[in-house]
Amino acid sequence: MCGIVGIVDAGGVSFPLYYALYALQHRGQESAGISTFEGTTLYTHKDQGLVAEVFNSHTLQELRGNAGIGHVRYPTTGSKVPENVQPFNFRYRGLDLSIAHNGNLVNTDELREEYERRGQIFCTTTDTEIIGNIIADALRTSKSMEDAVRLCMRRLRGSYATVALLNDTIYAFRDPLGIKPLCIGRLDHGYIVASESVAIDALDGTFIRDVLPGELIRIDANGLSSVQVATANRRAHCIFEYIYFARADSVMDGTLVYDVRRRIGQKLYDANPVEADTVCPVPDSGIAYAAGYAERSGIPFVEGLMKNRYMGRTFIMPTQQQRERAVRIKLNTVRGNLKDKRVVLIDDSIVRGTTSRRIVNMIRDAGTEEIHLRVGSPPIVAPCYLGVDMPTRAELIASGKEIEAVRASIGATSLTYIPLEDLVEAIGCGERNLCIGCLTGCYPVDINGEKSCHSIVDYVAGTHQSDLSTFRTGKERT
Ligand code: AMP
Repeated sequence: MCGIVGIVDAGGVSFPLYYALYALQHRGQESAGISTFEGTTLYTHKDQGLVAEVFNSHTLQELRGNAGIGHVRYPTTGSKVPENVQPFNFRYRGLDLSIAHNGNLVNTDELREEYERRGQIFCTTTDTEIIGNIIADALRTSKSMEDAVRLCMRRLRGSYATVALLNDTIYAFRDPLGIKPLCIGRLDHGYIVASESVAIDALDGTFIRDVLPGELIRIDANGLSSVQVATANRRAHCIFEYIYFARADSVMDGTLVYDVRRRIGQKLYDANPVEADTVCPVPDSGIAYAAGYAERSGIPFVEGLMKNRYMGRTFIMPTQQQRERAVRIKLNTVRGNLKDKRVVLIDDSIVRGTTSRRIVNMIRDAGTEEIHLRVGSPPIVAPCYLGVDMPTRAELIASGKEIEAVRASIGATSLTYIPLEDLVEAIGCGERNLCIGCLTGCYPVDINGEKSCHSIVDYVAGTHQSDLSTFRTGKERT
């Protein structure tokens, strides 16, 4: 999972890109980068680290121009080495192309082999470089970026929300199933495309709409236009975005994530009511769920855990031992709120089980009488190949285990997961329009050795739609 942003703004883009990346920091903490273009020069600054560590006012002032893209990385493919930090730049016949991507291709090996046979040299181990190479290669025969993206999308299988900067024009496209989020907003003097609407809010912009699955957006100094490159008979929005990944204040594909999580909390109570004294969230991801649970049950919402806000997400720690220690530094108990209480403890998901086990132990040590763990996702039983760093089946605590065995391993008094039907209902777009591979082991694209629930994608020879091309930047806008 990563965060991407593209901005064209007559007032300069480096600072807006920086603020937008700050708003998307939760989507990736491993590295950050920005590319901008002015005159004939492509400027790029990128490095490993958090947004605040990678940029300062000097580096931002050096990133000149009114068009640019940015990226925060959470590694799914490719190792954590400096070469894999995005955006990636490509130069061909006087054209400068910079590209950043969120998602994961599942036909990377085939494509890499094919392009290597043709003489392409790859400098990184990421699938993003393949996307860039296919586009650069297509630009060799066609001068039109629209055609190059069209050809590229026909070749890619998997999830991709992508932003590209070609000289001073931004292109953004989303895979035909809309697996990864991408939305469009209006700024005072331009436009923004970003992984989540919170990036638009951070710039005081106005949310326009989501980029449609299979759509290509083009933004330059004259405004914004779009073309539908592909259509599919279904969507496959990543369910884990709603469960955990997206910020609760984001609106994704028409739904406020906070509302989804609150509804799940309500349904968790309905599915299995329990008598208790307090409802306690695992911060921060369990808060909206706990709010819904408390609302429906009438049991008071009381914080029993406090989070050290200056620590990253624990799952980015490379070893199990580091991950376990990190949980203790990250969370502490509020003993007075837990002692002698029957607690409903609410978290978004259980992946490896490490966090939940540690938290349950901590809460028990605080003198709690009963711990009823309620989880905002169904059991995660299969890996993700489409952009979330889910471990192998062997590392997933719920894979091949009964719920009672998971409960015993974690040490809770009782354990209930949200049923899949309730989760789907809480999101509201229908099971057919969600990717639920990690919950069922059945994926919306063909993946070697896995089951797929089939989707049909058509590539259309579209013309520019008129609705978006009527938007203009700057003063012309009403
Ligand atoms: P654990 O069960 O110890 O793997 O930790 C699960 C917790 O980490 C969940 O409650 C989430 O808040 C968070 N998390 C979210 N995504 C992931 C992921 N891809 N891998 C591991 N943990 C995650």
